[in-house]
Formats: sequence, structure tokens, C-alpha cells
Amino acid sequence: MKFAELSALYHRPLFDLISQSRAVHLQHWPGEEVQRCSLLSIKTGGCSEDCAYCAQSAHYFTGVEREELLSLENVLAAARRARSQGATRFCMGAAWRGVRDGSGKFECVLEIVREVSQLGMEVCVTLGEIGPVEARKLKSAGVTAYNHNIDTSPEFYPEIVSTHTFQNRLDTIAAVQKSGMSVCCGGIIGMGESETDRLRMLEVLSNFDPPPDSVPINCLMPMPGTPLADQPPVDIFELVRLIAVTRIALPKARVRLAAGRTRISREGQALCFFAGTNSIFYGDKLLTAKNPAADVDVVLLRELGLQPQGVTAS
Ligand code: SAM
Ligand code: SF4
Repeated sequence: MKFAELSALYHRPLFDLISQSRAVHLQHWPGEEVQRCSLLSIKTGGCSEDCAYCAQSAHYFTGVEREELLSLENVLAAARRARSQGATRFCMGAAWRGVRDGSGKFECVLEIVREVSQLGMEVCVTLGEIGPVEARKLKSAGVTAYNHNIDTSPEFYPEIVSTHTFQNRLDTIAAVQKSGMSVCCGGIIGMGESETDRLRMLEVLSNFDPPPDSVPINCLMPMPGTPLADQPPVDIFELVRLIAVTRIALPKARVRLAAGRTRISREGQALCFFAGTNSIFYGDKLLTAKNPAADVDVVLLRELGLQPQGVTAS
């Protein structure tokens, strides 16, 4: 979709906009289904990059300690736990700029993926920059989807990161698309970007060929010690509008309400689901940030009459 179309949608009266996005949603998805994904940090902290929102960057004193890659046993235990709590997608994140074929750490990740993919959940990884060889090997090891967010507009990106470029992100996404892995790509709002930046981000995402299968919308979790530590929370109606426009622009994508749900009321989350969200991250921790407790989410979904994917209605 073009910027002008996205902007016209975004500025419609709120109820008209969310009625339209709900109609699009119901054409493409079972209206009540919500996928629960679990996210595990398999390699935490000490990252070479300077992403201004990130507690794992080695450029800032955030209190997040650098850790080694988790062992296969620990990752498998976490994946089994997530499955028993109802997750149907298991995502593993590493605080790396990227990973290259031939390195010991890449071999370890491939081994982890081979084992985790036997558990019957969708397997997603987010390891930073990769090229065509890494993408092909990850796919044959059993990865379903690769997450690599563009995070914001091409224009605002240099304000947020100086150690790599927006084009670097696009190159990795192209390698993932070529391998046949599904692309999970979205961004963050609340970093000081303008409304234009948010819509430009959607313009870029909706013009991917093929479009991403999964679009996480994160609200900034301001992390102490990072340059964005004092950013105010995102206005709920701005978030709902963005989710609705995402649903219309990317009708077949899972729209994931990702980081930042701890700062959104139950009523706010309900509006997000109505506007087009059909996935949440589930479990008490999101990489290094807080997330609502799993039992709180179970109650919320039940009260809204939403149906967790993979659980039959009773
Ligand atoms: N290093 C890899 C990369 O940069 O792609 C993978 C891990 S990175 C932590 C994954 C994503 O988490 C980022 O692209 C960003 O969208 C999101 N994220 C990280 N810190 C965040 C924060 N404080 N608030 C909101 N989203 C955040
Ligand atoms: Fe590193 Fe990823 Fe955090 Fe950027 S977002 S500092 S690349 S872990």
C-alpha cells in the first residue's frame, strides 16, 4: 500500500477504522483465535550494536549481564514448558549483530533448532544479520520463521542505530525470503518517531514481496540506562489505529501485540484484539523485559471470549 492510502485510513474516525479492520480480519482469520507465542533469550547481553532501545547493547549500562549461549538442555526444557503452557510458537532470540556459517555458535544454534523443532510447535529464531547460506541451513534444521524487525521508518532508523543500517536489515530479510522461511518483521513505536515514521514503516512492510507472514508491533519498554529510558508511554488510540491499519494493509499476516503489554490496560488490549491483533507473547518474560503473567493472559482471553490457538473450545 502507498503512504497516502495508509495515512487516509489512519485518520478515519476511530470506530469506522476499527469496523473496517475487523471486517478484513474476519475475511482472513477465525475471528476469535489468538496465537500464544513464547519467547526465550538463548544468548543474553553484551551485543556489539547500539540500538537505542535495547537493554542488551554493550554500549549502555543497563544492568543486563553478558551471558553465554544457553545449553541445548536448558533451551529444550524451556520449550517443553512453553508447550505445556499452551504456546504453539516458540521463538528464540540472541543478542548478536548476526551469525555466520562455519562459526561454533551457528553450529550450536542449528543443533538447538533440530531438537526444538521435534516438539511440534512453530519454531522462530531472531539471531540478527544472516545471509543466504545461514538462511538455507536454518530452514533445513527446522526453523519455520525468521524474525528481523525493521523497527521504524528508513528515515528515523539512523537516529536509533548507528552500528548497522536499515539496508543491512532489508538484506537479511531478502535472504530469509529467498530461503523459503517465513518472515516475521515489524517494529517498535514510542521511540520518539513521528506518525509519518510509523506509517512509512507500514508502507515498507506492506510492500515486501512476499509480504511478511507475521508482524510484531512492539511498544517501547523504556529500559534504564538506554538513551530511550525516559520515553513516555504510547497513546492507546494511536496504538489501536496503527494495529487496525496494519490489519488492513497486511490482511494475511499475524499481527502480534508484542513488547509493552504490561503498560496497556485490559480495555486497551481488548481494543487491540478487536482492531486486528491475533497473537500475543505469552509468559512472564520477554527476552529481558517484563510481560504479563501467563495466568493473567488466560483470564483476559477467557473474559473476552477469545480462543487460544490449539485449544479446543469447551
Ligand atoms: N539481535 C537481534 C536483532 O536485533 O534482530 C535479535 C534480538 S532483538 C532484542 C529483537 C527485537 O526486540 C528488536 O528488533 C526490537 O524490535 C525488540 N525490542 C528489543 N528491545 C525492546 C524494547 N526495549 N522495547 C520494545 N521492543 C524491543
Ligand atoms: Fe543487539 Fe538486537 Fe539489541 Fe540491537 S536489538 S542491541 S542487534 S540484541
